[in-house]
Amino acid sequence: NAAPLADSVAIVTGASSGIGEATAEALAEEGATVVLAARRVDELEALADRIESAGGETLVVPTDVTDEDDVDSLVETVTDEFGRIDVLVNNAGVMLLEPLERADRSNLRQMVEVNLLGLMDLTHAVLPIMQDQDGGHIVNVSSVAGRKTMANASGYNATKFGVNAFTDALRQEVTTQNVRTTIIEPGAVDTELASHVPDEQVLEQLSELYTESLDPEDIARAIVYATTQPEHVSVNELMIRPTGQV
Ligand code: NDP
Repeated sequence: NAAPLADSVAIVTGASSGIGEATAEALAEEGATVVLAARRVDELEALADRIESAGGETLVVPTDVTDEDDVDSLVETVTDEFGRIDVLVNNAGVMLLEPLERADRSNLRQMVEVNLLGLMDLTHAVLPIMQDQDGGHIVNVSSVAGRKTMANASGYNATKFGVNAFTDALRQEVTTQNVRTTIIEPGAVDTELASHVPDEQVLEQLSELYTESLDPEDIARAIVYATTQPEHVSVNELMIRPTGQV
């Protein structure tokens, strides 16, 4: 029996840590050739080594998703190398939570540029390739914060609500062309994401939220579930919380 994702090519952004790293490993285990994209090249190379020693295939493409040239050259590199893109996992993200009155404008801007604009640009660049082949699958990693607001998360909430809106509008444009879309909405996951929160008070607020958390692999399994369904099944949205998170 062939692996479910044999002969398919998957791009994972933010593959240098956390959910992206676990997702790249999980998709490789299902047989996909995984393209590892993020800024930290050493982490990507280490992951590529691990996947390849387990028998998988990888390509490392250093990418800053906020840089349009990087986005275009990522897509060009992958199509030159493999001639197709079957799965795009837009996972790169930052969570720089601050009360708005104390928020640094550059943090607000960075969240929009990485979480929303970067995801939109890469999707825009990949879509024509999926349309020209026999379809494809776009997986956008949003958050519970894409469905529920929280004080001190206004900027982050805005980007994740934006991801949900963008993805579901796009779904209606492309689903009849066999391009599937999936929104993934994790609750608390044990990664380095929260360690970059610049505000002490918010860090305390978060430590309560993160008393119980999922492992990145728990989210990777959800992404594998969505991307290994038969072609006539489109898993549009999955919310995954730790059982103890209200
Ligand atoms: P991590 O901080 O471990 O991973 C974030 C990834 O995004 C890193 O690989 C980082 O790579 C990458 N990234 C950041 N900025 C850029 C950029 N400009 N260009 C390319 N890549 C970038 O956190 P998680 O794994 O937790 O986060 C992954 C996604 O999951 C995010 O979208 C996050 O919002 C979402 N999420 C996480 C939750 C959690 O509790 N952990 C809950 C809900 C959603 P590098 O720095 O090397 O570029």
